[in-house]
Amino acid sequence: MTLFARIPKVDRILEWDGIKALLGLHPRPTVLNAVRTVLDSIRSSARSGLFREEELHESSITARIESEVARATAFSLRRVVNGTGVVIHTNLGRSPLSKLVKPLLDEIAFGYSNLEFDLEKGERGSRYSHVEQLLCELTGAEAALVVNNNAAAVLLALSALAAGKEVIVSRGELVEIGGSFRIPDVMSQGGAILREVGTTNRTHPRDYRQAITPETALLLKVHSSNFAVIGFTAEVAATELVAIGREHSVPVMADIGSGCLLDLSRFGIRGEPTVQEFVQAGIDIITFSGDKLLGGPQAGIIVGRKECVAPLKRHPLLRALRIDKLTLASLEGTLRLYRDERQALAEIPTLRMLTASADELAARARSIARRVRRASPPAIRLTLTNGISQVGGGAYPLLELATTLMAVEADGISSQEIEIRLRGMEVPVTGRIHKGRFLLDVRTLLDDDIPFIAAALRSLAD
Ligand SMILES: *Cc1c(COP(=O)(O)O)cnc(C)c1O
Repeated sequence: MTLFARIPKVDRILEWDGIKALLGLHPRPTVLNAVRTVLDSIRSSARSGLFREEELHESSITARIESEVARATAFSLRRVVNGTGVVIHTNLGRSPLSKLVKPLLDEIAFGYSNLEFDLEKGERGSRYSHVEQLLCELTGAEAALVVNNNAAAVLLALSALAAGKEVIVSRGELVEIGGSFRIPDVMSQGGAILREVGTTNRTHPRDYRQAITPETALLLKVHSSNFAVIGFTAEVAATELVAIGREHSVPVMADIGSGCLLDLSRFGIRGEPTVQEFVQAGIDIITFSGDKLLGGPQAGIIVGRKECVAPLKRHPLLRALRIDKLTLASLEGTLRLYRDERQALAEIPTLRMLTASADELAARARSIARRVRRASPPAIRLTLTNGISQVGGGAYPLLELATTLMAVEADGISSQEIEIRLRGMEVPVTGRIHKGRFLLDVRTLLDDDIPFIAAALRSLAD
């Protein structure tokens, strides 16, 4: 009998006990697809000449079908352990929310709410009202509005304030943020005409002054976010730009990217002005993200002077960019924590991770390592070493935060293989490879990640 003739047929496989059990748990087409996928792979292995006799055993085929069904029925969007040390990791969902947001999020998600219902007047209300007061209170601004993300906030502001008119931007601030957000492109989408001034490294007040014409609708300042120009540089500070705007009655807008509401300089995190500082400087309209340094959900937050925010509230684009109720609930929950600075620092994971001291992280690493080692076989080694973590999310590109790393080594397995196997876990564990070692940074590990790390490391010995 040829090898191909010995590969069991679909009908026979469906009679096996293990497969019958799967059919009791999953729809028939799901199991059939898995059977066919596994048979295809056995056939191609047979053709390749690398075939092993065990591949025809009922137990081996059953196990492969089981794992294929598991793969096919797993959620696509899943929890991941972030061991990369990048706190605001856009690919891993940026900021984990505070657990204190959970009760409100639960109530709003699974029931009806006063999303657009004014409970006092008994008539239609505005979804934006739920956070406007809070944002004004926290930032000192006169008015506020929230949309889907900061890219949407910039687009809306340009569309509402500058369509068909000119917007002046420094050449040093024509940035591209990851995921194809480019200031010149957003400008043309918003129907505004870009007027570049200055040079890449130096822009002066006179550059703005000379470019202002009756066609100028806005002076725009953009946070450089993910890069730094160092050396012979000059930029026009927010207060100076406001003075120039006032001289010519042109409003000034700032896309500040991260939106930090607390001064983090006492934790060694310097150079990012707070939203409040921009408000105090007199900037007319300020936009920032909800899920970067703020530590909340994906959102675009707009604060500023009433007369500048009003046209955004009336603009038809707002309907297309509107924020949903789950985001609003988690945003209100997060913002409320900022009423008490200590609570914000302790309860918002992004802030807690960023402000954790080197000593605190070293102690945490020792405690995690103890727990994980207890569960790991001797072939798996975990060693602690000093290292550096990054803020991420386009904030503080040059800042290096001292941290403790856990290096994972396993007998007979390369660091690349470790990376692949940990990434393939049901709860994937991500880290980075540096100088031939697979590393997990304790800064970005959450307490309830530890069992998943232990399980992942244990599985390396299988
Ligand atoms: C991150 C960033 C954006 C984009 O914000 P999203 O919330 O991701 O849409 C825009 N501008 C600046 C300066 C940024 O740093």
